[in-house]
Amino acid sequence: MEKIKGTNFEVKAIENGTVIDHISPDALFKIIKILGLERDSHRLTFGQNLESRRMGKKAIIKINDRYCEQEEINKIALFSPSAVVNIIRDFKVAEKLPVAPPESIEGFVRCINPTCITNNQPVRTRFDVIGGDGLSLRCKYCEKITLHQQIELL
Ligand SMILES: [Zn+2]
Repeated sequence: MEKIKGTNFEVKAIENGTVIDHISPDALFKIIKILGLERDSHRLTFGQNLESRRMGKKAIIKINDRYCEQEEINKIALFSPSAVVNIIRDFKVAEKLPVAPPESIEGFVRCINPTCITNNQPVRTRFDVIGGDGLSLRCKYCEKITLHQQIELL
């Protein structure tokens, strides 16, 4: 098992929980939002614009005593495919979870098309995730493509 050394971390190590590391700095607050962390009662610490040898700058999120589910982790991939998710038990990395984009997503992104039913009726948004230059989303109702840089959270 890999031990987290204090020197690598500008944010204090946690005993148990989830550490999401190597987040693109521009994705930090989106990830906090899609994981519902602003309403979460677990202790949350995060660092923004930390030094990263691999990425230049990165962000990191640590959630005490909460273990993220694979489904939540896949949502992270929409905004930061570079992220690495570590499950921490007793101050050690117990598991590294792969971050992979989901095939489809529901309910947390707005459709780009103003006339789409999801923007005009109380209908939950649903998209297929498609490849290309950064991930894009195709609406299951109106089939319009929301490009990666246009993704807006509900
Ligand atoms: Zn639509």
